[in-house]
Amino acid sequence: MSKKEDIKNVLNDKQWHCVICDLNHISSQSAAIVRDLAKQGAKFCNSDQNMVRQYKNGISMFCNKCHKVTTHRKLE
Ligand SMILES: [Zn+2]
Repeated sequence: MSKKEDIKNVLNDKQWHCVICDLNHISSQSAAIVRDLAKQGAKFCNSDQNMVRQYKNGISMFCNKCHKVTTHRKLE
């Protein structure tokens, strides 16, 4: 399976995923892959009550796994 498919599979649960904990071990280019998926029509959430910053295809918020404020992705 391609790295894009692997990342899609992680995101398919429609939960927030920390890029450090959940995505970057699949591909260090996860941001580019997310941009690609968005171009192909995937809709990413970019707001949450816990968000620190808002991005086009995600947010930054505190991660309970790595205990840092990191970029998070979530499919709508
Ligand atoms: Zn994390």
